[in-house]
Amino acid sequence: MRAMVLDRPKQPLQLRAVPKPKPDRGQLLVRVNACAVCRTDLHVVAGELPDPKLPLILGHQVVGRVEQIGKDAPSNFAIGDRVGIPWLGWTDGDCAYCRSGRENLCDNALFTGYTIAGGYADFTVADARYCFHLPDRYDDVQVAPLLCAGLIGYRSYRKTGGAQHLGIYGFGNAAHLIAQIALYEGRELFVFTRPGDNATQENARQLGAVWAGGSDEMPPKRLDAAIIFASVGPLVPAALRGLAKGGAVVCGGIHMTDIPSFPYADLWEERVITSVANLTRRDGDDFFAIAPRVPVRTHTETFLLEEANTALDRFRAGKLNGAPVLVVNRAAPSEVAAMDLNSRESSGEPR
Ligand SMILES: [Zn+2]
Ligand SMILES: [Zn+2]
Repeated sequence: MRAMVLDRPKQPLQLRAVPKPKPDRGQLLVRVNACAVCRTDLHVVAGELPDPKLPLILGHQVVGRVEQIGKDAPSNFAIGDRVGIPWLGWTDGDCAYCRSGRENLCDNALFTGYTIAGGYADFTVADARYCFHLPDRYDDVQVAPLLCAGLIGYRSYRKTGGAQHLGIYGFGNAAHLIAQIALYEGRELFVFTRPGDNATQENARQLGAVWAGGSDEMPPKRLDAAIIFASVGPLVPAALRGLAKGGAVVCGGIHMTDIPSFPYADLWEERVITSVANLTRRDGDDFFAIAPRVPVRTHTETFLLEEANTALDRFRAGKLNGAPVLVVNRAAPSEVAAMDLNSRESSGEPR
């Protein structure tokens, strides 16, 4: 099968023919149809995350069809079913974190496209217990970016509790998805972009934000919570300064540059800074229940599997018009009809 392989950090991925994986006990063999590219993939390629499994097949927003079922796999999937494979690939179920409902923090967790092989390939295998059924409303390309930006974004959003005045720093893929849910739930949204990025600010206002401005500006009123989706540490004290008493800053990314020091007075009055790590299966179930009701819409830009380096380069350079998605295998004829009906939401057809 074809795979885009990372041999070493800071090198381009290599298109290579590798053996098709076999499903182990409890695993599904999945024919990959689409795999969205996440900012975390950039951090893995840049060598900013420790100890990736090398050589590595990246990709943790995988959409495909079950081709084969390993021994003793749970019966929640049948051959031919559509399946979504997220970042959380395996947990031990046994450590203190798993036993207290926090499998996202599992001491021995394995992560798709990082410490186990992911979806930048024709096929992949995944532990069936960590895979999701995906809402029928979405085609494969539309649903792929929901699998990380959506799920981990949703976990970040839930950490803001009932925040009525909600700030979002960094209006990329995750922010765009979560903003739709926040508005659906009646929150007032304040969006912060790079100073001077008027196009993104206008975009946020059109989506329904009550205010949009630069990250160097203070919000017009104190915020109950702010989520930071940009990997820029200095945004943390900036966001903190705009919070109401008891407010929270939630860092929603897996990697962030260092946070500068700030006066204790900015944290005083029970303000909180927290981060979100990974996801639980519960986050996924909750998100895929609410997403089609909103409905959360995705904007995508598609690339072929062998164009993965181009997708990564353009992502890094901020030159994308939607969430990047690799189209790996052309959809079967019955799936194409559904895609045609929905393709207006996507910004481009597979090239
Ligand atoms: Zn565990
Ligand atoms: Zn991700």
